[in-house]
Amino acid sequence: MPDINLFESVLDHVCRCAVDLKLLPNVEAILKMPMREYHVSLPIRMDDGTIKAFRGFRVQYNDARGPTKGGIRYHPEETIDTIRGLAALMTWKCALHHLPLGGAKGGVVCNTKELSRAELERLSRAYIKALCHLIGPDKDVPAPDMYTNAEIMGWMMDEYSRIMGRSSFGAITGKPLSVGGSEGREDATARGGWYVIEEAAKDLGIALKDAKVAIQGFGNVGSNAAALAASIFGCRVVAVSDSRGGVIRREGLDVPALHRVKRETGRIATPPDASSISNEELLSLDVDILIPAALEGVIHEGNAERIKAGLIAEFANGPVTSGAERILERQGIVVLPDILCNGGGVIVSYFEMVQNLNLDRWDEEFIHAKLRKKMSEAYQEVRDLAMRHGITLRQAAYTIAIKNVVDAMSARGWV
Ligand code: GLU
Repeated sequence: MPDINLFESVLDHVCRCAVDLKLLPNVEAILKMPMREYHVSLPIRMDDGTIKAFRGFRVQYNDARGPTKGGIRYHPEETIDTIRGLAALMTWKCALHHLPLGGAKGGVVCNTKELSRAELERLSRAYIKALCHLIGPDKDVPAPDMYTNAEIMGWMMDEYSRIMGRSSFGAITGKPLSVGGSEGREDATARGGWYVIEEAAKDLGIALKDAKVAIQGFGNVGSNAAALAASIFGCRVVAVSDSRGGVIRREGLDVPALHRVKRETGRIATPPDASSISNEELLSLDVDILIPAALEGVIHEGNAERIKAGLIAEFANGPVTSGAERILERQGIVVLPDILCNGGGVIVSYFEMVQNLNLDRWDEEFIHAKLRKKMSEAYQEVRDLAMRHGITLRQAAYTIAIKNVVDAMSARGWV
């Protein structure tokens, strides 16, 4: 895979729509710069008694619309540039979905597969110790992302509450249900993405029943995307993969069986009636819907021409680079952009914050209905603008999001 800088790709999208929005150069310059960045060292005691220091980041990209919001990733190849790009995406995502929140992202350079549970807990608590005065319900609210989960969010909320000397459930979202987590948060990103696909499929004349779907990634987002595809929409999931590779079965995979094996062994196994497939092969399958649900930059100028899917739904953040986007556009492939498609996670995180701040509890059905309404309204706003101006869904989504951020900056007298 070529060396891809997510932040540059995001800035390229901003430039493209800054022209349409006729933004003044100084306003564009503010949008292209993170407001605050923190680099921290996280020394922890390892199980063998030695001390090891990990690197951590938190980027608070823009808080014009409210407290910043965004996940924390644990990844061995984490870089500040990626976190910057992801924090910018969170800013546009919250603004596009009309949430009263800014955007942020955090990361720790580590390999969770090489850490014990106790080491993981100490590392997660160390992250909060290092940043506790910079986060909080009215400052910046972290959440899960790649290789972090509800259990880790529970530890982080506990550490924050202990240091602050009060129960501060609203400081972190994506927590376990027993400590202020929200119903519907676990599969919110995938579910929200499917609600957008459902709307787009009507416009594009794709029948979801038996539609062929390939999903790259089998973490929280990818595995829930597969489960929902088969169970609610009756799609045929023909291929899935994780970081090690994937499996294909043209008649459709037994998704519950794949989940069972992944839970038990930590990996996707190839059932006797299916074949193995590489991540690269999965991307170029002839399917109706391709869902990249893992890393950024997987569809790039080097492989975009081989994509045969009619519709790409970006459940991951930044899976299609700006260079690849131009090629896909020429091929007539429709891309449902990340900030539209994967907003379900942060939307339900926002519902979680509201419940925590009001000491309230909403039931799952209510949350699903509210999520569906927000996702379909966002899709319709984006689709209408795209049709009116003859632009792509990504350009329309960025245009709406950036206008919302600029309006807030202007109302606050920043520009
Ligand atoms: N990490 C998720 C995202 O990229 C969710 C963020 C949140 O819930 O704050 O959108």
